[in-house]
Amino acid sequence: MTVLKANARATRQGAAANFTGVVWQDEVVVGKAPSRMRATVVSFTPGARTAWHAHPVGQVLYCLSGVGRIAIGKGSRPQAIHPGDTVLIPPDTEHWHGAAPDRLFSHLALSETGDGGKGTQWGEHVSEEDYRAELLP
Ligand code: MN
Repeated sequence: MTVLKANARATRQGAAANFTGVVWQDEVVVGKAPSRMRATVVSFTPGARTAWHAHPVGQVLYCLSGVGRIAIGKGSRPQAIHPGDTVLIPPDTEHWHGAAPDRLFSHLALSETGDGGKGTQWGEHVSEEDYRAELLP
């Protein structure tokens, strides 16, 4: 058994290439083979969000605090997500997720690396127009 101590792992800021705004990442676990598990708590400041991206084996998001947004598929409208919601994102599907414009938001992000260690495929930043589109009911 291993206990990964919180004190030994600093919070890291999300890379500007992959996020708009200020985003903080706390690693939960990066599994060693044969595990492909990756888990991270991601905390978004108001207005912050990921760039468009896709995961080879999909992704599960468990919402922890605040008010968030997610959109799946280019041209789609975002929808609000809240603490206790679980979001299932299919494999190889472009999407983004982040905070509402005026609220903090955090989620636990769970994913698995793909064959050959393939990770997240990153695309362009989410435009203000797409981010601020009228929410789905
Ligand atoms: Mn994602």
